[in-house]
Amino acid sequence: MKLTPLETWIVSETGIKEKTRADLEEYQLSKIKKVIKYVKKYSEFYSEYLKDIDEADIKSFKDFQKISFTLPEYIREFSNKFLCVPQREISRIVTLKTSGTSGEEKRIYFTENDLKLTVEFFKYGMRSLVNENDRVIVFLPGNSYGSIGDLLKKALNEINIGCYVYGMLSDLKDAAEFIKNKKITCIVGIPTQVLHFSRMESETFKNNIRKILLSTDYVPETLITEITSKFQCKVFTHYGMTEMGYGGGVECEALNGYHMRENDLYFEIVDPYKGEVVKDGEYGEIVFTTLTREGMPLIRYRTGDLARFNIDSCACGTFLKTMSRSLGRIENRFEVGDSEFIYMRDLDELILSYEEVINYKVYVQEENLICVYIAVKKEEDFYKIKQILEDSIKELVSANKGNLDVSIRYLKETAQVKNSMVKRKICDCRRDG
Ligand SMILES: [Zn+2]
Repeated sequence: MKLTPLETWIVSETGIKEKTRADLEEYQLSKIKKVIKYVKKYSEFYSEYLKDIDEADIKSFKDFQKISFTLPEYIREFSNKFLCVPQREISRIVTLKTSGTSGEEKRIYFTENDLKLTVEFFKYGMRSLVNENDRVIVFLPGNSYGSIGDLLKKALNEINIGCYVYGMLSDLKDAAEFIKNKKITCIVGIPTQVLHFSRMESETFKNNIRKILLSTDYVPETLITEITSKFQCKVFTHYGMTEMGYGGGVECEALNGYHMRENDLYFEIVDPYKGEVVKDGEYGEIVFTTLTREGMPLIRYRTGDLARFNIDSCACGTFLKTMSRSLGRIENRFEVGDSEFIYMRDLDELILSYEEVINYKVYVQEENLICVYIAVKKEEDFYKIKQILEDSIKELVSANKGNLDVSIRYLKETAQVKNSMVKRKICDCRRDG
């Protein structure tokens, strides 16, 4: 079987002889031991946190699974204690605003080498979807050095593929003109923004765009179906987060889940409540360990995202692990009945399936009222779908044994609203205050 570009790269980076899981896992385990030794020596946080761990005792992944998780709040509290190099060797610091009332931020540090590894992953990962005949537009932030757009542009330029970092989508007409003028064939962006764009500028979309890569948020099935059938366009998804160095895994042409960046990252899926590693095929929380990070390695970091490993092998025949598309953040939900939840992804599938809708926001109020604010293409559209949406959300609530009331309200889409929609989150006032 011919290796995919991503596989070829991983084989060469890991130096494994046989292209088998056993060899790759042997590489990963030996890297894990090295990383533990490294962080215990250089990171103030891990030298304390892992003081009772001896890497020589780790003889299997089972042994590794006994190590405590690294939680996001530890980074919030001790971010610079995670550092394994002097501050002057840091090329990029990303400050992540976190939700909640504490107001503290998470700082993630990268050295020049760390950024280079991400560029390498993007180079081979993007090869799964684009070639020299494509021109790519990136609707993600890219102005600053080492930002996701900047790294993606570097990667594509190195493999002679034209790439324009446009920034976040705000002026849709302008973006459509840009696509026409530059003969763009591929969009990289955020799911709801790209969906919105495709609904408002469908002619441009139809005439130009052949491939899309979506990242940073849950990708609704309804979006994939609509864009694929309307525009004969292939929709790829990518999984990653800043903490893992942006890139984590990307779909191949079979579009059957992400193939993982297994030379740089070791992934586990764990039961979100008990913390135990679950069987392949079972859903759980994604946990990762960095294998090659220099500035700020992370050991068994809990992402808060839900997914599972596929049991069936991918049509491309890869020996890499395949993870099903992430179902989004575990916490992005609200309780409707006794331990019954409605997740943002449930609402996405329902609400975004109406082509009139361009965006929405959800607040669950203290008096058990679900307020859904809907932004539509044209104001009159709102009255067409208001009742249907109210009824179907009520149905969803009662199917989950809940008795919350539902109110559908009109949302005027302003620039401010758009910006607040990048990290989409259900606001449960009963929980968040
Ligand atoms: Zn594949």
